[in-house]
Amino acid sequence: MNADRSWPGISHYQVEAGPDWTGSGPLSEDAECDVAIIGGGLAGISTALSLLERGVDSVRVLETDQPGAGASGRNGGFVFAGYSLANDALFTQLGREQATLMHGWTRDAVDLIRDRINRYAIDCQVNDAGVLLADWFGDDQRLRAFQQRMADQLDFELELIDREAMPSIIDSPRYGAGLMEPGSFHFHPLRHVRGLAAHLHRAGVGVHGLSPVKAISRTRNGWQLTAGESVLRAREVVLTTGGYDKTLWPPLQRALQPIATYVAVTEPLQGLTERLVPGGVAVYDTRFAFDYFRPLPDGRLLWGGRISIADRSPDAIRRLLRRDLAKVFDGLGNIEFEQAWGGWMSYARHEMPLLGRTAEGLWHGLAFGGHGMATTTLAGELLAEAICGQPARLARFARWQPLWAGGALGRYAVQTRYWWLQLKDAFRSQTGTGR
Ligand SMILES: Cc1cc2nc3c(=O)[nH]c(=O)nc-3n(C[C@H](O)[C@H](O)[C@H](O)COP(=O)(O)OP(=O)(O)OC[C@H]3O[C@@H](n4cnc5c(N)ncnc54)[C@H](O)[C@@H]3O)c2cc1C
Repeated sequence: MNADRSWPGISHYQVEAGPDWTGSGPLSEDAECDVAIIGGGLAGISTALSLLERGVDSVRVLETDQPGAGASGRNGGFVFAGYSLANDALFTQLGREQATLMHGWTRDAVDLIRDRINRYAIDCQVNDAGVLLADWFGDDQRLRAFQQRMADQLDFELELIDREAMPSIIDSPRYGAGLMEPGSFHFHPLRHVRGLAAHLHRAGVGVHGLSPVKAISRTRNGWQLTAGESVLRAREVVLTTGGYDKTLWPPLQRALQPIATYVAVTEPLQGLTERLVPGGVAVYDTRFAFDYFRPLPDGRLLWGGRISIADRSPDAIRRLLRRDLAKVFDGLGNIEFEQAWGGWMSYARHEMPLLGRTAEGLWHGLAFGGHGMATTTLAGELLAEAICGQPARLARFARWQPLWAGGALGRYAVQTRYWWLQLKDAFRSQTGTGR
């Protein structure tokens, strides 16, 4: 897999899952289909699958690299509800009824991911211990207030783990209480997306790796995509290129802000990981720029964090994440990370996904940010519904338009905002105030 060309460093997932998935092979001749999907991340693969499950099988996916080479196969592996936009903000923007409805769709998507894993027998190391939000600031009252708001505003019931019970789940004095998200889980994201792609391939849907689309143009009856020497004609096109392309349809993609986050994985720690995270859960915390970590099945610890506009080297990522890890697990500042890597998420200014139709027959599913597993799966459902003539759910996303992200200046503005929010987090963790 040569995502390494755009990001140096091989991921643990690539090493663990073995050679690239070669499925349908590159697009090597001119072809036609009903729906052409550009981008073989979870958004593109889910859209193809949701179409197939509705009986639309004249579908092809074109991917620059291999399915899952982008964020979808390189991420933390947390499968949980919600959008990148904070739940409180979703409620403020939409009011209780609509916010509950749309947040509920992401909970349904978590269930759908699990259901498909079972239905298509995908071996992707599902860990049902769930996802825990751990309180970095030791502010029980605030955490309980958040739990109550989620129940009141979104019908979203989180289970409180009080601070006395926390050591049985995470062995670190760093945290106060925590909130468990029922139904959430963690898994191997690359095995997952490859498993879905393999199912599509077996069902006759072309999933073409090493087929970068260089141009899209209109034809009399639809669209034409140019990939290498070949041309793919389709009635409908779906653009799901994540944070990895800004050139194919600039009026839309100029709304994207590619933001990096980093992950590293230790060697097997001979029982230590089980002692550090006896609950087996995937953990993130209540800061703006939170750490995220989870145990892997063979006793390794996966550690992630940071948000940045910089594509750092694996060694730089190792150094940064080692420092972060030592703040949670004292004495582990010299831990060896076997692999360290990063990936691009794509964000819109409003932090909600961009879902819709830009022109007759040209659809898009972009900007899922750091909450992409459930929301890309949901996007696949909504896009497939709309393509099959039922656009009502997709239409709810029209209020979040592709606003220009500000180009290079926008990137620096974003980085400055992140530093500011990180500073506020640091101030608050020292003083218990600041927000
Ligand atoms: C390090 C990291 C950790 C994360 N952790 C989590 C997590 O734990 N839980 C969670 O829910 N979310 C997480 N996310 C976010 C989540 O991974 C993304 O939101 C989601 O995977 C986006 O999926 P996508 O299909 O839109 O994009 P991608 O997976 O990036 O897929 C886009 C694909 O399009 C292809 N492409 C681009 N241009 C072209 C072209 N011209 N022709 C053909 N193909 C093209 C790319 O090669 C790429 O494979 C994380 C992200 C990162 C980077």
